[in-house]
Amino acid sequence: MRILLIEDDQALGEGIRTALKPEGYTVDWLQDGASALHALSHESFELAILDLGLPRMDGLQVLKHLRAAANPVPVLVLTARDATSDRIAGLDAGADDYLVKPFDVAELKARLRALLRRSFQRPQPALQYRGISLDPASQVVEYQGQVINLPRKEFLLLHELLIQPGRVLTRDKLQQALYGWDEEVESNALEVHVHHLRKKFFPELIRTVRGVGYLVDK
Ligand code: CA
Repeated sequence: MRILLIEDDQALGEGIRTALKPEGYTVDWLQDGASALHALSHESFELAILDLGLPRMDGLQVLKHLRAAANPVPVLVLTARDATSDRIAGLDAGADDYLVKPFDVAELKARLRALLRRSFQRPQPALQYRGISLDPASQVVEYQGQVINLPRKEFLLLHELLIQPGRVLTRDKLQQALYGWDEEVESNALEVHVHHLRKKFFPELIRTVRGVGYLVDK
């Protein structure tokens, strides 16, 4: 579960990131609005935590740009004061929920769980590919009618590949989808996951594009 945290307060950002890691979230952290908008527009996150007061484009502008581009990523807004006008502006701009600082980290976690539950309840069709069925909502994977239990990273990798068959995904893009930006990744981790997926399904499932990345054929 990859979350983008956008917060310019160093201590608060560190605190949130540290609190969320043990929950199994991959948390990438940016500290200004312009970089956040760029990242959200070019990479996939399951959720964003967005502070409103930010340098280089405030949070409300980020949100307005996202929604104007029909980006559906769930957004939890952090507001500095309990000002009704801030909350209303945030919700009007397309926030899914908000928290007023200072907040209890347990409440933040509960809000995130609720938002993620809601977003996974939106109808998402199961992906079908040569006998493989992957249901993003229930996270169940089947192959020729048999349920295949995949570790988290293998599930994420298969999902990335199956949503865009015929398209080469670079190693960098896949590594970011699996690990975020910061997590230390062993240099052959991706190869190992690919190897396992080929074994669990069939060898031709994933094609290596030498020096670039991987794809599944159309
Ligand atoms: Ca701030």
